[in-house]
Amino acid sequence: MLRYLIMGLVLFSCSITGCKRVDEGMPRPDLSNRKARVVTTTGMIADIVKEVGGDLVEIDCLLGPASDPHKYYPTSGDTDRLGKADLILYNGLELEAKMGEVFEKNSKKIRTVAVARKLEPSDLRTPEPGFEGTHDPHIWFNVKYWMKAVDAVQEALVDLDPKNADTYNARAKAYQKKLEELDREIHQEVAKIDQKKRVIITAHDAFGYFGDAYGFQVKGLQGTSTATQAGTRSVQDLVKIIGEQRIPVIFGETSVPDAGIEAVLEAVAKQYKDVKVKLCEERLFSDALGEPGTPEGTYIGMVRHNVRTIVNALSAK
Ligand SMILES: [Zn+2]
Repeated sequence: MLRYLIMGLVLFSCSITGCKRVDEGMPRPDLSNRKARVVTTTGMIADIVKEVGGDLVEIDCLLGPASDPHKYYPTSGDTDRLGKADLILYNGLELEAKMGEVFEKNSKKIRTVAVARKLEPSDLRTPEPGFEGTHDPHIWFNVKYWMKAVDAVQEALVDLDPKNADTYNARAKAYQKKLEELDREIHQEVAKIDQKKRVIITAHDAFGYFGDAYGFQVKGLQGTSTATQAGTRSVQDLVKIIGEQRIPVIFGETSVPDAGIEAVLEAVAKQYKDVKVKLCEERLFSDALGEPGTPEGTYIGMVRHNVRTIVNALSAK
C-alpha cells in the first residue's frame, strides 16, 4: 500500500514539473577527445550551460531571438541536431508544448533533462481557469527559481562528464553568486515604483512569477501560453482594468506580435476617453533572449533590460 502511495506521489510530482531525473545507468559518451555536445531549447537554458560548462561544452540552441517556444515545432534539421546531442536540456512544464514527443523519443537513448525538475510543486503557479493540470512555465522570471534550474544543469553536466565535476561545480557556484546579486538588485530597483503603480500588462502572461516575487499585479492578454487565442472576454477584461485603474502604460514583448495588445489600446481609447494609456516604446524580453553579442543576449542582461524598462515606464511622473 505504502509502495503504491510513494509511486503515486513520484508520478504526480513528475507530471507537475515535466521532470526527468538525470539518467543514471545510461552509458556515458567518450569525451576524451572532444567537447560535450549540449542541445537546449531556449536561449535562457543555453546561457546557463555557457556559464556552468564554459570551454568544456559545445552548445547548440534550437530557439533563436524572438522565437516563441509555445508554438515551436521542431524541423527535420532540429531532429538531426537533437540526435547528435550528448545531453538535451529543455524547460519543461510544457513550455515547449509541441516538442513533447521529440523529447520522449530522444530520452530513450540520450540524457534528456527538464531544467524545471528541481522546483517544488509548491513553487509553481496554479493554472488559470480552463488550463487545469498545467502550470505556468515561465520560471526564469523569479531569479531564485532560475537558480534551481542552474542546479539542474550542474547536476546533468556532472552526470554526463564526472571527470570534470570540480570545474562544473565551481563555475555553477560562481554563477549562482551573480544570480543572488541580480535578485537583490531587482528588489532595490522595483522599490522606486509606487505600490499603487505596480501593474504590468503584457501581450501574454509571462510575468506571473516576476509579479509574485517582486510585488506586481500582472495581467497578460493571452494566457500563460501564446498557443491559444485571446478571446473577446480577455480583451474586455484588460480594457476594464486599464480603464478603471487608469493604467498609463502597457508592454509589448519581443517574441509576441503587437497586434493583440494594440487592439486593447484601441478599445480603451473608445470606451475610456479620459484615460491616456500608451504602449511602452521598449519591448520586454519574455520567452527569448536578445541577439547574441548584445547585453540582452544573456539571461542577466535580459532581466536587467526588463527591470529597467518597467521601472522607467512605471515610475515616470
Ligand atoms: Zn510564454
